[in-house]
Amino acid sequence: MKKATTHISQNEGLIFEKSSPGKRGYKLPPLDVPAVTAAKALGNAARADLGNMPEVSEIEIIRHFTRISTWNYGVDTGMYPLGSCTMKYNARVNEAAARIEGLANAHPYQPERLSQGALRVMKTLADCLLDITGQDAITLQPAAGAHGEMTGILLIRAYLQSKGNPRKKILIPDSAHGTNPATAAICGYAVENLKSNAGGMVDVPSLVAQMNEDVAGLMLTNPNTLGIFEQEIHKIADILHAKGGLLYMDGANMNALVGKTRPGDFGVDVMHLNLHKTFSTPHGGGGPGSGPVACKKHLEPFLPAPLVVEKKDGTLGFDYDRPRSIGRVRAWYGNFGMHVRALAYILANGPDGLRMTTEDAVLNANYIRKQLEGVYELPYSTPSMHEVVFSDRKQTAKGLKTGDIAKRLIDYGFHPYTVSFPLIVHGALMIEPTESESKEELDLFVDAMRDIARECEKDPDLILSAPHTTRLSRLDEVQAARKPILRWKPTSKGAAE
Ligand SMILES: *Cc1c(COP(=O)(O)O)cnc(C)c1O
Repeated sequence: MKKATTHISQNEGLIFEKSSPGKRGYKLPPLDVPAVTAAKALGNAARADLGNMPEVSEIEIIRHFTRISTWNYGVDTGMYPLGSCTMKYNARVNEAAARIEGLANAHPYQPERLSQGALRVMKTLADCLLDITGQDAITLQPAAGAHGEMTGILLIRAYLQSKGNPRKKILIPDSAHGTNPATAAICGYAVENLKSNAGGMVDVPSLVAQMNEDVAGLMLTNPNTLGIFEQEIHKIADILHAKGGLLYMDGANMNALVGKTRPGDFGVDVMHLNLHKTFSTPHGGGGPGSGPVACKKHLEPFLPAPLVVEKKDGTLGFDYDRPRSIGRVRAWYGNFGMHVRALAYILANGPDGLRMTTEDAVLNANYIRKQLEGVYELPYSTPSMHEVVFSDRKQTAKGLKTGDIAKRLIDYGFHPYTVSFPLIVHGALMIEPTESESKEELDLFVDAMRDIARECEKDPDLILSAPHTTRLSRLDEVQAARKPILRWKPTSKGAAE
């Protein structure tokens, strides 16, 4: 593949340092008050000079930001098969709803009687999510999936504490997302690893052996991070409950279940949802996250305050009178703009649409599985749900790893899949297409993955030196993580650091 040439290459050395003295990107009208009066009015805010601010003209600043916006890759650019992240299309109808003036401009201090619309949005979303999960009560406060996990485990702790003993341990399968053990630890629990079986599911005999009265609960992702539904979920719930433990479900993978089955019906006591995955709100960049936590009746008294409730006169209000609550987990009511977007998504699809979404997400993942089976090694034969996990074992014979294949995929115009996760798979390639992709797009992706497998055989160096079409090729990922340079800083010479 030819190295891409673009209109930016001529500016290569001047990408960030465009400042030269005296250039202005604005025009202000002449001062129409005496300069001293203006300075006095500004008080401490008045500045004699602009310090080390870059000096550029209007068109330079417009081109600068427009150009860097084209270096980004998002789901609006192409397929984004980043497994476990559910990078589905964020429908524009969500944005239209979020911009409705009364919702966008609502103030958190506004009196309840003037906030009935905003409260109705929260209440309707809460009711829809309870219907979808089969749970009894919910908080919309947590601002991310991991934040929801923390809220959920604190609910478990408060509940067990109210019975006299918060217990010591949380069991976590070896396929779990890294946030699960981190959450258990931050909530004061020791983490005990639980083995998966040859089918990629929780090994039930190990659970029986490890379950005792020190165990507060099990954190389980379902479908798990291998994209496999935990077929013995009922039995798992019964084993925990029999010894007084609780079942926490990491609901990040609900895109495989919505409209088909409900965690509340298969024994889950408490779970979180990722609105920025399953319910089509943006993943960072375009907005903050949202991780509502839904639970069964026995955990409801401990939910964060306030909850939106229907009052006797039929109006809605906030219930702050929750004496057993774990307390607030976030300012105000959570990321309200995301509640509006998720509700728009749910109402635009309706129950049948949501069910079809689930079916299409699972169908798309299985189409990819079928097309790439034999090209890449499939470590588990258990059926896949919304994502499929391959291993790089066939390619490692040629010295190529999952990360190399992912880099080459960039040259073909796709965002990489999730690399090396879950950890129990040798060099995992975790692929989640979501329901957003057409068959045509899936076919292009499959062709790219097949081409790359052929290149691995014929020309390993091409893969090892990929990507070839990006401005920068292989970055020092350790330095990028340990010593990130996150913003432009002037040096003494005026050049960017
Ligand atoms: C994404 C994800 C999380 C964490 O969600 P955040 O919103 O990123 O905090 C937890 N568990 C699983 C399985 C996930 O895929």
